[in-house]
Amino acid sequence: MYKYICRYCKKPFEHQNKNRQCCSRTCEGQYKRYNGPLFIWKEGYCFMLPDISHPRKNRFGRVLRSHLIMEQSLGRYLTKNEVVHHKDKKMWHDIEENLVVMTRGEHTSFHNKERYK
Ligand SMILES: [Zn+2]
Ligand SMILES: [Zn+2]
Repeated sequence: MYKYICRYCKKPFEHQNKNRQCCSRTCEGQYKRYNGPLFIWKEGYCFMLPDISHPRKNRFGRVLRSHLIMEQSLGRYLTKNEVVHHKDKKMWHDIEENLVVMTRGEHTSFHNKERYK
């Protein structure tokens, strides 16, 4: 048996297999949702593999990490008409303080205004 600390609930557990990160499937699901494998798109957007039930996965089953973070803070899923804007324009800088939820329209006009300043 190998001894581990669950990365999600932080409880110690033992497992007969090597390289376990979480004590249960539930913890593993939650852990992967926010800390799991990250995919970085060429423009710097970070995608994650969320739980199976997420309604807004792209065709690779991934969701923008910025969306997951804002959804967790709002307590609901974002709608199709909402986008997450990065205040410092760093697309990989997904911390709550750097993110604002806008509608698509607001977001486009926000960036248009900036461009013609
Ligand atoms: Zn656990
Ligand atoms: Zn933006």
